Amino acid sequence: MRRMIAGNWKMNGALGGVAAYAAALQAAPRRVDLAVFPPFPLLAPFAAALAGSAIAVGAQDCHAAPSGAHTGDVAASLIAECGARYVILGHSERRENHGETNADVAAKVATALAAGLVPIVCVGETESQRDAGEAEDVVRTQLRHSLPEIFSGLLAYEPVWAIGTGRTPTEAEVTAMHAAIRAELRIIFPAGGAAIPILYGGSVKPANAAALLALPEVGGALVGGASLNAADFLAIAAAAPQD
Ligand code: PEP
Repeated sequence: MRRMIAGNWKMNGALGGVAAYAAALQAAPRRVDLAVFPPFPLLAPFAAALAGSAIAVGAQDCHAAPSGAHTGDVAASLIAECGARYVILGHSERRENHGETNADVAAKVATALAAGLVPIVCVGETESQRDAGEAEDVVRTQLRHSLPEIFSGLLAYEPVWAIGTGRTPTEAEVTAMHAAIRAELRIIFPAGGAAIPILYGGSVKPANAAALLALPEVGGALVGGASLNAADFLAIAAAAPQD
């Protein structure tokens, strides 16, 4: 299985850092699919800097409408025109800070697909939901309502309490959740649900990447903080198993 290693820069980065970061990424192992998700103004510069390489660029969000009077938002078609291949949708910071619902996410996914982008759809429970024993139910509900009827792309399991905290679920918890997600995807999409890659995200670092990436049904990593440093991001990519 080829692992996808995706670096979510969130609201970080600067124009002046693109060339050096893109050059550093050229040392990434060929056995992984690597993609960087910078803020919108850096999409086109990154796409230019990475042109001709196998490393892809993606956006962190798009609007659900194809175009129109949506001040401050960005259309999926423009993201694609800027050279992006992927878009992260339904990240917990979007759900929490911008009130995005599962239905909003599903609409964005459909629009992204229509624009030719590959969505990475995020799901994950809060700490109180996990403590209450509701984690799998919460994630199953998110899956059922955050994906349009026709879907292709990737999923990312990101427990909200693990994002940016330095805490991660146990290997058994990741394995159980990824199995639950796979089972649900098979039900929702009988034809293609078995093949949708499921990334893990939440405090992935060089030190824990090998263990997380070797778990069953972990098809890669969505990396936040550690992706800001090219050496750390590359070390995570290098930790992907050879199989
Ligand atoms: C993320 O925001 O998607 C994420 C996983 O962040 P971090 O790696 O910093 O926990």
